[in-house]
Formats: sequence, structure tokens, C-alpha cells
Amino acid sequence: MFNKGKELLKLCKEQNKKISEIVIEKEINDNKISYDELMENMKFVLDTMINSANSALDKEITSVSNLTGGDAKKLEDYKNEGNTICGNLINSAMAKALSTSEVNASMGRIVAAPTAGASGILPSAIITVKDKFNLSEEDMICGLFTAGGIGEIIAKNATISGAEGGCQAECGVASAMAAAAIVEMVGGDVDTALNAASFALINVMGLVCDPVAGLVEFPCALRNASGVINALVSSDLAMAGVKSLVPFDEVVDAMYRVGKAMPESLRETALGGIAATPTGEELKRRLL
Ligand code: SF4
Repeated sequence: MFNKGKELLKLCKEQNKKISEIVIEKEINDNKISYDELMENMKFVLDTMINSANSALDKEITSVSNLTGGDAKKLEDYKNEGNTICGNLINSAMAKALSTSEVNASMGRIVAAPTAGASGILPSAIITVKDKFNLSEEDMICGLFTAGGIGEIIAKNATISGAEGGCQAECGVASAMAAAAIVEMVGGDVDTALNAASFALINVMGLVCDPVAGLVEFPCALRNASGVINALVSSDLAMAGVKSLVPFDEVVDAMYRVGKAMPESLRETALGGIAATPTGEELKRRLL
């Protein structure tokens, strides 16, 4: 039905539909399920996301390796003290993203969106926007379908794997999915959603994958915190009318080429970047 951003755009314009509506129709056709079943499935996804985004805010959740944990609660407590630099919305969004990352590192249940490593970004983004604009559960579910449509296009034309394309392909893609979802949730049109997704990818193009000791913990959780802010900033840029000079599909192609050009040491091998620092190496020795 659509493989590229421009095809999705055309469908939306021809049929005067939102991205989520086109994606919902596609899912029903592809999976041969009813509208009600599809909604029920996505409601389960949403509930899982909400749970993971909140679980580590009021109690410390530590990773299986004991390397990381407790940072979501630290940030939530810091926000509640009311003296933050960036304000409540930004800090709350980062805390929720960290929460899901910590649940993931503790082997709890999360939704890979698009991967487990980047699973904190989309839940935090849709909860943050829902809370700010007092939106409905249905708006959040539609946002998830929009995000899914963007993720599918990127997966088909590039990659959503850190091992193949670096962290830009995980946290960058999650931010792009979230940015498009946010735009639709706040009433933006399809062009604006694709601009927001483009900005989110452009903002972190070249981001390497370098998990310490090969564990999806550090710097992964930090990149989920900054990833949700990337999504929020990108959607605001697009909603303000800023346009991407380069179309979404070309941005996706560029991201893929950049990923391919990355040395293997910067693609999830834990042989470069932060993983290869003296401290990173020492932590690896201690853990393994
Ligand atoms: S650094 Fe690598 S493992 Fe960690 S979230 Fe990014 S892509 Fe995934």
C-alpha cells in the first residue's frame, strides 16, 4: 500500500485521511483482522508502554547486571523539587523515557519501538503530549499507528538496527516515529508530520552504537532521555512551519548510507565510542 513517505503522503492527500487512518486500514488488510481486534491489540501495547514509562518513577529499578538503575526516580524526584533548568514537561518526559529503559534493562516487559534499546522514547512522547493537551486514549492509540507507519517506512528503506546503522537507526528512528505521532496528535497535517520525522533523524544523524560491555544500558538510557526531547523539539519545529529542505525519503536514504559507512566498531560491537573508553573497558572486565 505504501513503501515510501511520498506514497504515504499521496494516499493521505487523495483520501483526505490522517497517517493513522491509512496505517489502520493497511494493518486490517495485511493481518486479516477486524477493526475491533486491531484496536484491542494496540490498547494492550499502549497499556504496556504506560506501565513501563511509570514503573521506575517512584521506585528504583536496577538492571540485571547491576550496572545501572534508579535514574528515572532521581529525575522524577528532582523535577518534583521544582527547581529544574528545563522545566516540568522536559524533565517529566526524560524521567518516563528512563523508566522504560530501566524496565528493559531489568528484563521487565516493554514494547520494542522500534527496538528494546530505544523503547523509552515513543511511550514518553505520547504520554507527555496526551497530558499536556488533555487528549484521549484514542488519540494515543492513533499516535501509535502513525508512529508505526513511519517506523515501517524506515525499516523497509533503511534499517532499525544498531548493529547495522548505529544508534541513529534505533534512538533516531524512535524519535522520528514519536515526532510524527506527536504532530498528528496535536492536529498537524501529514506534511508537517513528515517534516518532524525528518528533523528527528537529521538531528542525530551519525549517532553511533557503543553500549558499555555490550549491554543495552549505558549510554542507551541517556539516549532515550535525549531522544524523547529530540521528538518534542522536532515536532515543535515542524508545527511552527519550519520545513525540511530535504524530503523525508531522502533523509531516510541518507541515514542508511551513513550507517553503512560507519566502522564496525561503532555498530553495537562495544569496540568503539563510550564502550571503548578506559572506564568502559574496565566495567566490561568487571562484569564479564
Ligand atoms: S547505543 Fe546501541 S544498543 Fe544502545 S540504544 Fe543505541 S543502538 Fe541500541
